[in-house]
Amino acid sequence: MNTVSNILIDSFKRKHTYLRISLTEKCNLRCTYCMPATGIPLAPRAHLMTANEVYEIAKLFVMHGVSKIRLTGGEPLVRKDFEEVIRKLATLNVEIAITTNGILLERYLPLLLELGITNITISIDSLDAEKNQQITRRDYFETVWNTIKKLQTIVNEVKLNVVLMKGINDNEIINFVELTRFENVKIRFIEFMPFDGNEWNTEKLVKQTEILERLNTHFNTSQVIRITDAPNDTSRNFKIQGFRGHFAIISSVTNPFCDTCNRIRLTADGKLKNCLFSSSESELLNDYRNGLDITSKIKLAMLGKHKYRGGMDTMAKLEDPKLHSNNRSMIAIGG
Ligand code: SAM
Ligand code: SF4
Repeated sequence: MNTVSNILIDSFKRKHTYLRISLTEKCNLRCTYCMPATGIPLAPRAHLMTANEVYEIAKLFVMHGVSKIRLTGGEPLVRKDFEEVIRKLATLNVEIAITTNGILLERYLPLLLELGITNITISIDSLDAEKNQQITRRDYFETVWNTIKKLQTIVNEVKLNVVLMKGINDNEIINFVELTRFENVKIRFIEFMPFDGNEWNTEKLVKQTEILERLNTHFNTSQVIRITDAPNDTSRNFKIQGFRGHFAIISSVTNPFCDTCNRIRLTADGKLKNCLFSSSESELLNDYRNGLDITSKIKLAMLGKHKYRGGMDTMAKLEDPKLHSNNRSMIAIGG
């Protein structure tokens, strides 16, 4: 691993080696938990990073010690010059991963495999086509499901992100875990997080404790096995004894992973977010375009990183809608 330079170390000595880059604010889905029904105002194209700017800014982060880059969005694969972006990034000495809704994935699989990129996470929130349509406001379940099946024949493990919402898809927890019985999948249950315009409230939240209670009741408690997490993992990992795949819970709301956080985010319009929950951002793209050295800005952003959830260190703060609306919608952050 590259040595991490000072500029990526925050006041709590956390080393930020994982950069998540949002390639676009656009998406071919309209997930209720991610964006408001009315959509979001899109930044003008000229304000977005070009393929070369993504590469040059990423290269700087890699020089300073970033060892993993995840491409996200919006939907990263709707970006017209996706191939150019990924080919450039693949020349950097860094692990590349991607999170996608899977709609266009089949088209890009040959390219990703050619570049050795197999760390692919697909978001799918229901195993029922109709419910999926209700959540995503679009009808693509079959396309995505077929691509998941195809990917399973190619990579060792397919990661599936599932955002759980009370009364919507929480009755599918067991069905998702049942998928791991014979399949090489990892189900990643994500607690529903509050962002601008997603009508979050605690009633809709399915907490980690509840997920585990349901699984312990359905399977024998002794069969629900905790597996060791990787360093800096944001998920708590489990498997059902004897099952082929496994599952994880990402409890950013009830049990955040801030102590070991190593993540920073670059938005499609070239702003650095030091935390997913933080409302503050540091403008990098304009400075880069003006030929300024952006390393001091990055360092300042790192030093300004709060210890917990962008300063929302209590549930009361997290439940305050005013604090969500200071932040962008998830679609414009890049999850
Ligand atoms: N479009 C791609 C996708 O859906 O996989 C990548 C971008 S999406 C913003 C990245 C991840 O964030 C997805 O797995 C999505 O389910 C998750 N996400 C979006 N809004 C969320 C929310 N309010 N709470 C928890 N996870 C959320
Ligand atoms: Fe699009 Fe992903 Fe957000 Fe759904 S979660 S609206 S697929 S960016």
